[in-house]
Amino acid sequence: FIELRNIHKSFGHLHVLKGADLEVNAGEVLCLLGRSGSGKSTLLRCINQLETIDEGSIVVDGQLLGVEWHRGRLRELKDRQVTAQRRDIGMVFQQFNLFPHLSILENVTEAPIRVLGQSPRQAKQYAVELLERVGLGDKVGSYPLQLSGGQQQRAAIARALAMKPKVMLFDEPTSALDPELVGEVLEVMRGLAESGMTMIVVTHEFGFAREAADTVAYMHDGVIIERGSPEQVLSDPVDDRTRSFISAVK
Ligand code: ATP
Ligand code: MG
Repeated sequence: FIELRNIHKSFGHLHVLKGADLEVNAGEVLCLLGRSGSGKSTLLRCINQLETIDEGSIVVDGQLLGVEWHRGRLRELKDRQVTAQRRDIGMVFQQFNLFPHLSILENVTEAPIRVLGQSPRQAKQYAVELLERVGLGDKVGSYPLQLSGGQQQRAAIARALAMKPKVMLFDEPTSALDPELVGEVLEVMRGLAESGMTMIVVTHEFGFAREAADTVAYMHDGVIIERGSPEQVLSDPVDDRTRSFISAVK
């Protein structure tokens, strides 16, 4: 469903992604682990087309991202086409990135109204449903700064879901949270996983990876060097570099 082939990405002279390959099936939950600076966020940002790749290809649900074939040659898509592709891919960041001047409800309805052209009524109805699903049914009129970090992150998940994405990408969604707030966010993600959403989750929460992931992949220096079941990768990694990371985090 998601297919990354030989992805390369540099920032100036810094070669960050060095031929990353990754496959995620429809409905699969993949947890991506790796040391700080190994390129995890960059990889997610490439899938979401927040960054353009230098080499390789990304296919999501059969669609090649960012480029198209035109008279036998690849050419870059126009901004409008990139925007259309990005709608299918929801992303949740470490910092919740809610609009502070909009209520929780308005945060969730903003993009469906502006981008998808939904009527305010229609958007509101679905937003309330989503906010109830993430346990924020009583907070629709609140503003982001009136909520706890865990509540803000759950609102950010609802906001991403409001676009009816085919894929959800999570970049360390709980690492900015106080420890007692981590569980409620993971709980929402677990529910989403069970509902059959295709997900890539960058996280250091091994417990979540064990319980909710179908696959765990390990990234080292811009390449995915190992992947397998959570049990296999977390308990008995094949590669020494994976092994030393796992034992350091545990
Ligand atoms: P962490 O676990 O700390 O979040 P990461 O695996 O997500 O790390 P990335 O954020 O993808 O790592 O960064 C990989 C490398 O690319 C780092 O050396 C980082 O400094 C560099 N980098 C990332 N984004 C940019 C950018 N926009 N411009 C320049 N360098 C960048
Ligand atoms: Mg990162």
